Amino acid sequence: GFNCGIVGLPNVGKSTLFNALTQTASAQSANYPFCTIEPNTGRVAVPDARLGELARIGHSQKEVPTSLEFVDIAGLVRGASKGEGLGNQFLANIREVDAIIHVLRCFDDDDITHVEGGVDPVRDAEIIETELMLADLASLERREVTLQKRARGNDREAKEQLELMKPLIEALQNGQPARTAVPKGQEREAARLQLMTTKPVLYVCNVEEGSAATGNRYSEEVKKRAEAEGAGVVIVSAAIEAEVSQLDSEERGEFLDGLGLSDSGLDRVIAAGYRLLGLQTYFTVGPKETRAWTITEGTKAPQAAAVIHNDFERGFIACETVAYDDYIEYGGESGAREAGKLRIEGKSYVVQDGDVLLFRFNV
Ligand code: GDP
Repeated sequence: GFNCGIVGLPNVGKSTLFNALTQTASAQSANYPFCTIEPNTGRVAVPDARLGELARIGHSQKEVPTSLEFVDIAGLVRGASKGEGLGNQFLANIREVDAIIHVLRCFDDDDITHVEGGVDPVRDAEIIETELMLADLASLERREVTLQKRARGNDREAKEQLELMKPLIEALQNGQPARTAVPKGQEREAARLQLMTTKPVLYVCNVEEGSAATGNRYSEEVKKRAEAEGAGVVIVSAAIEAEVSQLDSEERGEFLDGLGLSDSGLDRVIAAGYRLLGLQTYFTVGPKETRAWTITEGTKAPQAAAVIHNDFERGFIACETVAYDDYIEYGGESGAREAGKLRIEGKSYVVQDGDVLLFRFNV
């Protein structure tokens, strides 16, 4: 599965947010299973209104959403790359996640100590990013030494690695994250270097309750920075989310309406995390269950089938495909078939977000 690491300075609201995320999920009906994998890791259902619509049309007994994993990575402080505050351990955790959710304190509260002395989310974002850049640089420079030895022995792979690393090292030395220097078309190779500053970033601005719908001057500053670097921004009030997580789904709607909010902040964080990772959803619909499955953009049908079961990829013959909108418009599979909206697709078909699929395979 795919996962997002929640990072940020101490006392910015990470744990409040993480606990709300995981409690909301566990408070949901049995259709939205939540499981704790490790104390700091939780799997949450990805909210998707299409699932219920498909289940209704398909007369399914059960809805099974797809999920996303969140890891609470506490303890990053200034100096982490030099080992401050158990820094190395936390940095190792960040290397393993697919995307970074960076929580920034955007609320004033004199009772809650700020480790840097005052509220300034852009400075905080820079502190954490600097630690990640320093750690990336150290890791690349260590590898460079070994690779240079191999390259002198005419090792072609080592030479290619060095070539790839060169612009990244330069960027980091100039105080720029590695993502700004990844050569076009080499994103995959670069991702294999497991650098932290090539991972996609989402800023979560934790604002006071009164600003949850509008944001505040701090979150505006974060937005400017995020725009400049192509990162996403979601505004939440962790305090509200903590309250929302205690409510059942009916009360939740009323509570959010009262605050002028259409969705819970957590739903927006989950959705943004999903987009950040370039993830898409396809569906299977049957009498037993209607289910959402996660693939990455550009995934072909046999590999999409493998998400359900590894053997499905090997035995893949074809798939029947109906686009979500057609499935709804023509009232399900048979209606879509009669209207000529059901297609038979082969091995090279690139699955589209919202496709309702039925695989045909050899067992
Ligand atoms: P972490 O260290 O980043 O995990 O931060 P916590 O989630 O433990 O929060 C630190 C403190 O800030 C706790 O006392 C929270 O209750 C408080 N806190 C978190 N979010 C908010 C908020 O939106 N407003 C206010 N006033 N306090 C908050």
